Amino acid sequence: MNDVLKVTDLARSFTQGGVTIDVLRGVDLRVGEGEIVALLGPSGSGKSTLLQAVGLLEGGFEGSIRIAGEEAAKLDNDGRTRLRRDALGFVYQFHHLLPDFNATENVVLPQVIRDADMASAQARAESLLTSLGLGHRLDHRPSQLSGGEQQRVAVARALANRPALVLADEPTGNLDERTADVVLAEFLRLVRGEGSAALVATHNERLAQKMDRVVRLHEGRLQTA
Ligand code: ADP
Ligand code: MG
Repeated sequence: MNDVLKVTDLARSFTQGGVTIDVLRGVDLRVGEGEIVALLGPSGSGKSTLLQAVGLLEGGFEGSIRIAGEEAAKLDNDGRTRLRRDALGFVYQFHHLLPDFNATENVVLPQVIRDADMASAQARAESLLTSLGLGHRLDHRPSQLSGGEQQRVAVARALANRPALVLADEPTGNLDERTADVVLAEFLRLVRGEGSAALVATHNERLAQKMDRVVRLHEGRLQTA
C-alpha cells in the first residue's frame, strides 16, 4: 500500500514568556491510500497541532512531512498552497462555511478555485450533498441548517476536489452524541466510497474505534497500538 502521508520525527514546540513547551516530539505516522486513521488523545495532547502541521497551515515544525510523495519542507509557499489544494481536504469542529453562500455554493467554490468548470462543479456538489441526505437543502444557507446538516456540508466541501487525504479535527465535536454518531458514520461511508484516506482527531475512544486504525497521542508522543 502506498502512503498518502508519511510523517517522520516531527517535533513542534511553542515558546511563550521565555518558557518553551514541547507539544510534539519524535512523531512518526503513516497513513496508507484509502486508510482511515483515528488520532486519539485527550484535550491538550497536541492533536490540532499535529493536524495543522500536516495540513501545511503552519510552519515552525521540525522533521519530515510527505504528502502524496511530496516533501513539504522542500516546498515554497506557492508549492504548499498547491499541494494543500490538490491533495488535502479539511473538516473542522466548527463548520467554517461561508455564511452568505448556500450549501451547493459552499461545495462548488473549492472546485472552481481549482479551475473546475461550473457545470461539473455544480453536479459534483449536488451529488455529494444528496448522498449525505441534503438533497432538499441545496439552496439553504448555513444559518438555515441544523448543526448536523452544517457539518455534512463541511464534509461535502472537504471531499469536493477528491483529496487523497482528508484531515478532520474533532469533526463531530460540536454535535450531540446521537447526531455525532450519524454524521460520523456518513462521513466514514463517503470517505470510503470516494477512496480517500483520512486522519481524524478525536478525544472520543468510542468514535475512534469506528475507524480502520487508532494511533494515540500522549504527552506529545505517538503510541501506535
Ligand atoms: P488538542 O488538539 O489535542 O486539544 P492542541 O494541539 O490544541 O491539543 O494543543 C496542545 C498543546 O499545545 C496545548 O498545551 C496548547 O496550549 C499548546 N499550544 C497549541 N497551540 C499553541 C500556540 N499557538 N502557542 C502556544 N501554545 C500552543
Ligand atoms: Mg484540538
